[in-house]
Amino acid sequence: MNEPQPVAKQSRKWDLLVLVGLLPAAAVLPLLVFAATLVYLLTQEGANNARQTLIEANDSLARVVQTELNRSAEDLERLSLAAAADSKDPELASRLASSLVGPGRPFSAILLASPEGERVLAGNPAQDDSAGSSPSQRGGTRGFTNFRKTGGLQRGVVEVLAPFQAQEGSTLVGQMNLMRLARTLASHAGSRSYATVLDGNDIILARSTDFEMYVGEHPSQQTLSAIHQKVSGTARFPTRDGRELFWSWQRLPETNWPVFLGTQAEEIDIAFWNSLRQLLLGAALALVLGLFAAWLVGRRLVRAFDDLTVQTPGLVTGRVTTYRPSGLKQVDALYEAMAAAGGKLRLTRAERDKALAAEQGLREVAERDSQKKDVFIATLSHELRNPLAPIAAAAKLLQRPELPPAESARCAAIIDRQSRMLAHLLDDLLDASRLTTGRVHLNRKPTLMSEILQAAAEAVRPLMEERQHDLVMTLHPENLTVLGDKVRLVQVAANLLHNAAKYTDRGGRIELSAVPNSTREVLLTVTDNGIGISEEESPHIFNIFGQVESQRERAQGGLGIGLYLVKGLVELHGGTIRVSSPGDGRGTSFQVRLPRTLPPVALPPTETSSDPSESECKAVLVVDDNVDAAVTLKALLEVSGRFQVDLAHTGEDALAMVGDATYDVICVDIGLPGIDGYEVAKRMKSRTEARLVATTGWGALEDKQRALDAGFDAHFTKPVDPEELMHELQV
Ligand code: ADP
Repeated sequence: MNEPQPVAKQSRKWDLLVLVGLLPAAAVLPLLVFAATLVYLLTQEGANNARQTLIEANDSLARVVQTELNRSAEDLERLSLAAAADSKDPELASRLASSLVGPGRPFSAILLASPEGERVLAGNPAQDDSAGSSPSQRGGTRGFTNFRKTGGLQRGVVEVLAPFQAQEGSTLVGQMNLMRLARTLASHAGSRSYATVLDGNDIILARSTDFEMYVGEHPSQQTLSAIHQKVSGTARFPTRDGRELFWSWQRLPETNWPVFLGTQAEEIDIAFWNSLRQLLLGAALALVLGLFAAWLVGRRLVRAFDDLTVQTPGLVTGRVTTYRPSGLKQVDALYEAMAAAGGKLRLTRAERDKALAAEQGLREVAERDSQKKDVFIATLSHELRNPLAPIAAAAKLLQRPELPPAESARCAAIIDRQSRMLAHLLDDLLDASRLTTGRVHLNRKPTLMSEILQAAAEAVRPLMEERQHDLVMTLHPENLTVLGDKVRLVQVAANLLHNAAKYTDRGGRIELSAVPNSTREVLLTVTDNGIGISEEESPHIFNIFGQVESQRERAQGGLGIGLYLVKGLVELHGGTIRVSSPGDGRGTSFQVRLPRTLPPVALPPTETSSDPSESECKAVLVVDDNVDAAVTLKALLEVSGRFQVDLAHTGEDALAMVGDATYDVICVDIGLPGIDGYEVAKRMKSRTEARLVATTGWGALEDKQRALDAGFDAHFTKPVDPEELMHELQV
């Protein structure tokens, strides 16, 4: 199972508190920018409006100034016309002029300039060097002059000129009351604005404030450059007295004199900055409040996550955690999810450990089994060699012609006993293999226990005698019967007896009994007073190769598959087997429980002739490529006097012989060179009436079946028991 992956490394790790703290800033900043833009646009709009208003106010101021100038020019014209209409009264002009001159009136003085000289019609003309000396310069003209410096209160004059109708070549000169113009400016500008009128030479004619101080002077340098750049416009620049104002200016249509109207610059563009300042203050306040709120929220989040971090190892190791619900839905859900994942992880780990342990156990078992197998193979070869040695020795002895007949008989008995042992060993091996692969088939019939016990006792009698054991058999008087395969059940009992004889010191006592255990069970017991079985060993003795566990029994020989076979066969019969031993050296008892059944019905004995002399001598053909085997079998059969035997060593020879002679029985080895035994049987079937008997090393059920299918009437597994074979040949 994969371990959880560590979180990918990141160059920068953010503190949750800092992140939460950034939230209000992230919220306030765009809002601030938006609001500032809005304020800027609104104040720009306001400034534009204010500028427009200023321009319009200046337009109206210009109109007022123009009207005033026009009116003074018209007044002078009217004076001229009036004087001309009544030219007989020379003083009339003076009288009329007097009504236009004086404080609050258009003119401070009115003169009549004629080619002869200049004459004051009314007021105190400003002292002027040119007055009276060069009046002819203005002869007959109309209009306005620029400011001309003189002495006096006004420091100079601006003159309005009109031709004097009553006297050709003469001109009426009205010296403008500039103070009146200044008052007009002041009343128009009001207290919050400033107005100035310059003449054609950019000299201040009138101002709404401090008129006396600046009349006749030039305005500030910035003012001059503004009006020189544009005929009309708006701009910020200071006045002579240093006041920073926002100005609108334009020139009068006739005189081209600039008229200025100025207002406090702050009123137009400072508004934005004021608003912005307030906005920033508000934003700062909102930010502080937001940060405080973020700190409160962030602290709670951080605590919840810190708690989670502290608890996490416990969730994985299964330690009891002390998590207190944070009250935060997602964090608590995360804890639940982590707890569940931790639980699963622990479970998976436990399962993995268990599986590992099981796998380890299995591996150890497999290794042990493999070792056992190696030892088994060594044991097997040793066990197979054991009977071969006396057989070889006895065969050598038999080759001596001088051997006395008693000695020959002993040799023959040795060979017989040892080859039986060899066959028994091989049978056990084959049976074990069949049992493991489930290929043991039982021929179950009601069988008397007494027959089983007797057959088993008979089978082990030679060993019992050799080891001088006392075999005590207890047979229940009832006809105790089991439903089973007699051959196999004899094998079970004989095996147990064989072991009892093997694992009991010479002169021991071995008991064999079969008693009813209940109405449905028979108890077969084999008890000895031998070496016994320790408690640790007893669970293993029924395993295949059980013997190789202990070195102790090695000395006794055997493959360690006997009890495995016994247990398998007992269980195939639906029975059980158990072992009990009081301990080392105190004997062993095996108890086999088998299902009980009713005794078999006794059949009347059939009349069979057992006298060999009554039966005729049978013609037998033995077909075997192993010449030794063929020759010894022929000798054995012929010695009995009941058989006449021919030999063939190949299938072809056998088939040829069948054509020439008539046989009662033909014994065929299956593994023949050229055509094999099966093929021989198939071909013979059509040529002879003889009984066909297969003799082969292959003894499995399917081998037998195959032989029958090929046409054989009987099947014998090698080494063939001569007695059994002779019995079969007699049939
Ligand atoms: P083998 O006899 O070929 O070794 P078995 O399967 O018959 O194999 O027996 C297995 C083992 O059980 C023997 O090696 C022996 O240790 C033990 N055993 C069997 N029968 C007896 C008995 N009657 N007394 C003591 N030990 C026995």
